[in-house]
Amino acid sequence: MVNEIYPLGTLPAVGEVPKKMHAAVLRQENYGHPANAFTIEKVDIPNIGKNDVLIAVMAAGVNYDGVWAALGNPVDVIKQNARRGYKEDYHIAGSDASGVVWAIGDEVNNVVIGDEVVISCGIWDKNAKDIQDGKSPMESETAGIWGYDTNYGSFAQFALVKDFQCYEKPSHLTWEQASCFMLTGATAFRQLMGFPPHQLHKEDPVLIWGGAGGLGEMAIKICRAFDAVPIAVVSDQEKEEFCKSIGAKGTINRKNFTHWGRLPNIDNGIEMKNWTLEAKRFLNAYYDALGEKRKPRIIFEHSGQDTMPTSIFICDTGGMVVICGGTSGYNADVDLRYLWVKQKRLQGSHFANPDDCAGINKLVKTKKVTPTISEILDFEQIGLSHQKLLDNKNKSGSMVIKVGIK
Ligand code: NAP
Repeated sequence: MVNEIYPLGTLPAVGEVPKKMHAAVLRQENYGHPANAFTIEKVDIPNIGKNDVLIAVMAAGVNYDGVWAALGNPVDVIKQNARRGYKEDYHIAGSDASGVVWAIGDEVNNVVIGDEVVISCGIWDKNAKDIQDGKSPMESETAGIWGYDTNYGSFAQFALVKDFQCYEKPSHLTWEQASCFMLTGATAFRQLMGFPPHQLHKEDPVLIWGGAGGLGEMAIKICRAFDAVPIAVVSDQEKEEFCKSIGAKGTINRKNFTHWGRLPNIDNGIEMKNWTLEAKRFLNAYYDALGEKRKPRIIFEHSGQDTMPTSIFICDTGGMVVICGGTSGYNADVDLRYLWVKQKRLQGSHFANPDDCAGINKLVKTKKVTPTISEILDFEQIGLSHQKLLDNKNKSGSMVIKVGIK
């Protein structure tokens, strides 16, 4: 007989679905500091639709979208998801997971109960007209992020995903390792390989902001897998050492520079001159780190407002700045003169298409990329882990939450 609910770290026999589960939930009245925003509650296990897969979560990766969800800013995810038809007055975040297929909908045929999988967080309606007309799924009007734009993410005993989100778990990885590479790895893969002709080539210099963070770590390793030359920007010496240990050719400590944030008024000659001098000093530090005078062909952006003016300034002629986030703010300045005269490309990127997910999974399976865990935390520490991300106190690599494992 199946119990109504099981203690965290235990489960019924494979395939038996209880009525309820333990989940770390966000409620609107708790939005704010992530440390206090998540509460552990008993909630109903969701119904399984014809293309749905119920996953018994073993471990869950911690990512920045959980920070945004906990803050309720820039999007109130509960309000947004209510507009999409969700009935719950709570949100279960978590967009990275490793786990076991526990139940499947009637039309699922790519996985069977008992399969060990990792989950991609890209979701869309595969029958949407724009996809049927040939758009890539992440460019569809229906695209979103599981655990952010949908409820029932990975910070619970069971998660609800679509069949196409499931990828075979690399068998040599632990549950913890397998839970923390798909979101950052596939995002980085698309940024670096998804926008031809600006794909990684042998010997291409690539500048990577936040090299010791979740995305940056993956970007460095992917560059190395394609024989490109990553240069990482970080904010302390320990992170510099970490980036070099995972393949960065050189590093730059951004704390040695002062020109971050929005550009000065372009009509203010003195301020503009000072900004340019500091940006040139940064460019020289990059040349020193690379060991030669070649500008970056690709700049891997996600830090946003603080760094975008520098990214545009130092990107190579005909190169690309590719951005997927704005950790330091969204109001980023672009001096258009550098963009058009030097024919640079500013490219937005959001998570990943199936080819990118398969691409990073293959690199991991073939041991060309191995995820680095910064810390393994208990289920009760989900709020704390997100607070660390917000406060930039995470150690190098990715944090992981134990869910179905002790
Ligand atoms: P993370 O692990 O916290 O790493 C971010 C890194 O950014 C930090 O290690 C920090 O490194 C650096 N950083 C922080 N503030 C900075 C500033 N003012 N200037 C320059 N660098 C700064 O986060 P992550 O997982 O890599 O994610 C980074 C961003 O990308 C987040 O905003 C996230 O929401 C976004 N993202 C978007 C997608 C997507 O699909 N659109 C996917 C994943 C992530 P140092 O202090 O060492 O410089």
